[in-house]
Amino acid sequence: MAIDQQQEKLKIIIVGAGICGLACGAALREHADVTILESVAEIKELGAAVHLAPNAHRLIQGWGGDLYQYGAVPNRNVREYTKDGHVKYNIPVDTLAEFGYEWVLCHRVDVQAELHRLATRPDGPGAPCKILLNSRVVTCDPEEGKVTLKDGTVMTADAIIGADGIRSAVRAAVNPVFSSSPSSHSAYRFLVPMEKIKQHPDLVELGVTEALTMIDGVDRRIIAYPCRNKTLLNFVVCLPDSELNEISEEKWSAKGDRDALLKSFETFLPVHQKLLSQAEEIGLWQLRDQEPLNQWAKGRTLIVGDSAHAMLPHQGQGAAAAIEDAEALGFVFSGANITREQVPELLQRVFRLRYRRATMVQQASRAAGLGDMMKKASGFEGGKMPELFSNMMAFRKFNMSYLGAQDWEANHQDYVLPVDAVKDGVLVV
Ligand SMILES: Cc1cc2nc3c(=O)[nH]c(=O)nc-3n(C[C@H](O)[C@H](O)[C@H](O)COP(=O)(O)OP(=O)(O)OC[C@H]3O[C@@H](n4cnc5c(N)ncnc54)[C@H](O)[C@@H]3O)c2cc1C
Repeated sequence: MAIDQQQEKLKIIIVGAGICGLACGAALREHADVTILESVAEIKELGAAVHLAPNAHRLIQGWGGDLYQYGAVPNRNVREYTKDGHVKYNIPVDTLAEFGYEWVLCHRVDVQAELHRLATRPDGPGAPCKILLNSRVVTCDPEEGKVTLKDGTVMTADAIIGADGIRSAVRAAVNPVFSSSPSSHSAYRFLVPMEKIKQHPDLVELGVTEALTMIDGVDRRIIAYPCRNKTLLNFVVCLPDSELNEISEEKWSAKGDRDALLKSFETFLPVHQKLLSQAEEIGLWQLRDQEPLNQWAKGRTLIVGDSAHAMLPHQGQGAAAAIEDAEALGFVFSGANITREQVPELLQRVFRLRYRRATMVQQASRAAGLGDMMKKASGFEGGKMPELFSNMMAFRKFNMSYLGAQDWEANHQDYVLPVDAVKDGVLVV
């Protein structure tokens, strides 16, 4: 809905220009003057690829996004082998038929580029977001809607959105009790040119050139899938921290060592080792998540994305949840004539709308990483996991059939926190 011509536009500051911050920009630009503050000098998404299930892809397309222009690959098959080469499952996928949108395999740089385009394009709704690089936020006054940058600059807005990732400075101001913790596993991540893989018929036979492929060794696993028009093969290779000298509580990422990687997989089949041996430049990341936070919003400030619900990658839904947060913000701020006074309540509404769904996905990701959906998940509201978790297919449908915040609020009340569940911004049940 258009903003009343008479009324001054709301001013919103988003902290962080990662996937979440840029998606928030794309969602909010129609309803406010948006400035995005990013700490780095150049926006460069690290890591390798990301897969976006239909729940996230739908929302990006809703903003006018087109990931196919960068060579996004529709995922048509998921297969898993044991480390002895037995096929655990090999399932055809057609989420376009099932949910109306493809499950796409993308280079992270491309997702970032497309969200950047949506947030800043001159022909989009409202005004393009302003992005200020080299702007690290060091403190935030959540009640006042004020941030202070490293160089001492103070900036104020009607709302501050903390999309500054797992080490969030904004979270420290909204909910200082919680921080993330290591999961006891880390992941090597790298990309290999597909041409290199295609030179080996035994590697092609594994299916990696076409499908999302997993090779499971219980406490370690290889995940590989194509991206960018199938010209690159993306790897995420998880293994226990106990085998890594490079990673510690203080050091969350490092350059990966190819020999160490191969050594950790020496009990796998020779063909799996050959697959890993194609690696060139390798990154190593500690896998961390956090307990569900009992407060996301305080005064004029809200945390979203990894800042609010950092999760393990085992459901491939972290970026998707961040994109869902962004769309929920856009929905809540889409009312006509929103005043500065209404902002704190609107931010609480986003928390109530998003908390249960994001927490369920976060907990399911942790449980999947631990290998047992039902028994090992913890930390859900009241300590009880919803029934839905007992059935993988039902949970997949829960993830992928999401239609956006408006539908969620209207038709999925069980998954929206009631107003009285939150007192002074804090979840009380
Ligand atoms: C191995 C692995 C695989 C994954 N695979 C998938 C997948 O397939 N699908 C999926 O949906 N998700 C996946 N995820 C999760 C996904 O990567 C994250 O959930 C997502 O990137 C979070 O985005 P974000 O914008 O919230 O945070 P970030 O990407 O961390 O972005 C935060 C931004 O804020 C900036 N910033 C930080 N502090 C400040 C500050 N103080 N001031 C200003 N700017 C600041 C940072 O520079 C950065 O640009 C994976 C994660 C991992 C580790």
